[in-house]
Amino acid sequence: MSDSDAESLHATFEEFRFAANCVVSRSRKENGYIETSKSCLHERTYDEVRERTDDLHANLVQAARSRAADALKAVVERWKDGDKASLPTFTSDFADYDNRSATLHDDWASLATPDGRVEAEYVLPPETDGTPFDKYVESDKYSVNGATLHYRNGSFYLHLRAKTEMDDAEPAEHPSVLGVDLGIENLAVTSTARFWSGGLLNHRRDAYERLRGNLQQTGTESAHWTIKGIGQRFSQWSEDLLHTVSKELVQEAIEHECSIIAFENLTGIRERISNASKFQQGAFNQLFEYVEYKAEPFGIDMVEVNPAYTSQRCSACGHTAEGNRPNGDDEFCCGNCGYEVHADYNAAKNVAWKHVRAGQKSRSGRANRQLALKSGTVNANGEYSPADAVSARAGVHR
Ligand SMILES: [Zn+2]
Repeated sequence: MSDSDAESLHATFEEFRFAANCVVSRSRKENGYIETSKSCLHERTYDEVRERTDDLHANLVQAARSRAADALKAVVERWKDGDKASLPTFTSDFADYDNRSATLHDDWASLATPDGRVEAEYVLPPETDGTPFDKYVESDKYSVNGATLHYRNGSFYLHLRAKTEMDDAEPAEHPSVLGVDLGIENLAVTSTARFWSGGLLNHRRDAYERLRGNLQQTGTESAHWTIKGIGQRFSQWSEDLLHTVSKELVQEAIEHECSIIAFENLTGIRERISNASKFQQGAFNQLFEYVEYKAEPFGIDMVEVNPAYTSQRCSACGHTAEGNRPNGDDEFCCGNCGYEVHADYNAAKNVAWKHVRAGQKSRSGRANRQLALKSGTVNANGEYSPADAVSARAGVHR
């Protein structure tokens, strides 16, 4: 790529950032609240952003607004949870392209910039067999429908987004929700009763911490390098593990024909598991990211729900009480109906149920949602075990 092409791409980043930051700066409404609706933000900012950016493609303006809206929504969510957070600021080099602002071929792309189109060839490994590139970009089953361009360490990276043709069909009339509960003892548990133990991760982490502590005490230079080495090996190992778990989670959603994976939001996890270490928080973060990334090509959305009471509520009868979960015990025991079940599995069902109910309450005529359970998918008309009666009722169409 020529220097002038690179310059044009940098100019795009700058304009994209400016557009996103401009939307953020115009988001405060007269009543002091923050506007997060994309269409309202469009009304408020489109003309100004078009005028103040220099030939930024209209679809890049729109993409920058979407980014700003998502970031604003996340901040408002945190405020609702009582967290302190400031309005987002965009500082990094990136731009989101779609099929109008870019033409994405199998081996090269043409990208809109303020100076006209830039054509860039992909730099690929010599052998792409078995890579995501092979699976999604070169495959006929998927079509590339967008990309995010990043700049890091002196190189441009284009992250392509692909979707299956199936996504073009109408969304399922009754989207099914897979609920996921995250924790320390069990890293993840789904509403379909699949468990991923956190045991090995915790064990290895403890061993690593101990070893690091001992080495730090010796204080020599070689100890310093050893710490670095084992630290890197440990992060690589834990990353691999989280990749595997996220892949299996998405697989679980596919097998149960779920179009939505529901997690409790990260702030919620932070509060619920107050003794979770920074490392564990980081692991949850990473798992989120991996799941989202792996679920997208299958048209599976990830949603975050407010976690209030997911561990205290009985997923069978809906009874909510602090005493429902005996302290330090894996077993959930309902004081009302006597339902006994693994506490994390109970919580996972509640996470899914929360999202099911959120759909119910909406007046937008959104499709009825249902919950994926161990015994199959449940809705009001389907079969369900009596224990799941309430969750099932939550799926009744208004
Ligand atoms: Zn109960």
